[in-house]
Amino acid sequence: MANLPKTEDCIAWLEKLVAFDTVSHKSNLPLIEDVKAYLEGFGFETRLTPNEEGDKANLWATIGPKDRGGIVLSGHTDVVPVEGQDWATEPFKLTEKNGRLYGRGSADMKGFLACCLAHAERMAASDLKTPFHFAFSYDEEVGCTGVLGLVHDVRDNLPAPQAVIVGEPTLMTIVGGHKGGHSYETIVHGVDGHSSMPDLGANAIIAAAKIITFLDGIHERLRANADTTNGFEPPHTTLDIGVIEGGQAHNIIPARCSFKWGFRTVPGDDGAAIAREVLDFIENEVEPPLKAIGEKMGVKAFIENIPRHDLPTFIPDENSAAEHLVRQLTGLNHSGRVSYGTEASHFQQAGFHGVIFGPGSIEQAHLPDEFIAIDQLAQCSAFLAKLTDWAVANKQVA
Ligand SMILES: [Zn+2]
Repeated sequence: MANLPKTEDCIAWLEKLVAFDTVSHKSNLPLIEDVKAYLEGFGFETRLTPNEEGDKANLWATIGPKDRGGIVLSGHTDVVPVEGQDWATEPFKLTEKNGRLYGRGSADMKGFLACCLAHAERMAASDLKTPFHFAFSYDEEVGCTGVLGLVHDVRDNLPAPQAVIVGEPTLMTIVGGHKGGHSYETIVHGVDGHSSMPDLGANAIIAAAKIITFLDGIHERLRANADTTNGFEPPHTTLDIGVIEGGQAHNIIPARCSFKWGFRTVPGDDGAAIAREVLDFIENEVEPPLKAIGEKMGVKAFIENIPRHDLPTFIPDENSAAEHLVRQLTGLNHSGRVSYGTEASHFQQAGFHGVIFGPGSIEQAHLPDEFIAIDQLAQCSAFLAKLTDWAVANKQVA
């Protein structure tokens, strides 16, 4: 067996990965091509699932026996933008200070990818009974959409994986469930006019306010009906409204108002059904009077609803093979719940057992001066060493 990777090897990989500017709207291919060539050098078999435009791709790389599904180590290669953030260090240059490594993506989640890559050589040199699959995706930070191509490719063409470890930053604790997400942008197209003659216009801001009040009413109902024992914090489906834009001046009836809204759903609440309720209200209550004024004034007045993202809930599963495996190797026995979305739910929808377990803290994700503690990389590296030994000794997840 090859030498046990050192924490320094993980750091070296992290430095390299952070230097690729893989903000979601940019291509991730330079990173993917580099990693793919590296893994192929050790005998990994690789497949790419590109996006439609051909400027991004997911990488699937397998080492070990090909006739069975193995353990998926899953992570996204994209990161959130740094524009408008005040960084003390250069965001795309890994910088060490007091046991911490600063850089965009260090915690979310190139730290995990770096640890996996540092262990690739040892995995390849081991007599694996259970294969490993690296699943490195794109477009996670814009709604977890990129990985779907990979998940469907695996589901349709490859042996079903036994377990999926999604290495999002959990400080190396087990997370077995997260909320789902459904979001829309609504654009109200009203009729402008002088504010002294309100009946000759259709005020887009007032229409938007009616919809937002309706959303708030649903939120209150969901709060009142929450199952407080489900382990989620807060235990109910929550409403997001973060952006609203409209109007030009206090004395002009606004012809346009747009806002973004969405729900983070707990298991048991159907995000699509909640959204349907809102869309029905818009169609039946808010849009008709708007349209009527538009017709009178010879202007097209209507309301547009654009779906933005739709992520299933990652439903806690006591019998998850992935969770059992991590418990068995770490001795941890608590399974947490979080309110942010991950790719684990897409794997679960495809029928694969998943768990979220990775180095670094979500508290540093997406912020300026994002960092990962070196000790977190060391812990993740130690876990991967154990996992590799387990894959040599075992054939199946217990
Ligand atoms: Zn992430």
